[in-house]
Amino acid sequence: MGSVKDYFSSLGSGISSLLKGMTVTGKEFVTPKITEKYPENRDTHVYPDRFRAILVLKYDAEGRHKCIACGTCERNCPNGTITVETKMVETPDGKKKKKLDRYIYDLGSCTFCQLCVTTCPTNALEFSNDFEQAVFTRSKLVKQLNYLPEVPDPEPTPEEKAAAEAARLAKIEAAKKAAAAKKAAAEAAKAAEQPQAPAKDEPKAPAADKTADSE
Ligand code: SF4
Ligand code: SF4
Repeated sequence: MGSVKDYFSSLGSGISSLLKGMTVTGKEFVTPKITEKYPENRDTHVYPDRFRAILVLKYDAEGRHKCIACGTCERNCPNGTITVETKMVETPDGKKKKKLDRYIYDLGSCTFCQLCVTTCPTNALEFSNDFEQAVFTRSKLVKQLNYLPEVPDPEPTPEEKAAAEAARLAKIEAAKKAAAAKKAAAEAAKAAEQPQAPAKDEPKAPAADKTADSE
C-alpha cells in the first residue's frame, strides 16, 4: 500500500517539475531575440562607437590626410606597431619640407590602447570598426595606411607669395643687423683691452742708474 502512495507522490512531483520547466521555456519562446545571425546581418548590424578594430588615417573629401610625419605616434606606441617613413620635398617657395612617405601599421601587434590616436597633434588617426581582418599569413596584417595617391599641395596665392617673400627679406635684414651689432660689440671690447698711450706733457720716469747697479 505504501508503494502505491509513493508512486503517486513521485508522479505528482514529476508533473509539477515538468510544468515549471515548460513555463520557463514558454517565456523564452515569446521573449524578443537578442542573438544575431552573422554574416547575414552585416548591413544592418550597429557597432558601438567605442569599438576599435583597426587603425586608419583620416582622409577628407579631397583625399588628403592630416599627418605631418612628426613621428609622435611611432614614439608613443608601446609595441613598435607603427613605422613612419618620411621624405623631403621642396615647397613652391623654395623651402625644404618633411612629408609622410609611408605610414606602416602592423595590426598583428596592436593592442588597441589608442595612445597613438590621443597623442597625435593633428588628429590624423582614428579607429575604424572594420573588424573583418582575418588573413592566412601574419605579413598580410602589416598595412600601409596612406594608401591613396598623394594630392599635391595647392599653389600659394599671389598674396601668400608676397607675404613669404617679405618674411624672407625681413629675416635677412634682421640677421644683417644682428651681425653688425655683434661686430661692433667685439670691436669695442677689443679697444677697451688695448693699453692707453702716455700723454705728451706727462714727466718721464728717470732712467735707472746702470753704474750704480754694477757697483
Ligand atoms: S599620425 Fe599624427 S602623430 Fe603620427 S606622424 Fe602623423 S601627425 Fe605625427
Ligand atoms: S593603438 Fe596602441 S598598440 Fe596600437 S598602434 Fe596605437 S599606440 Fe600602438
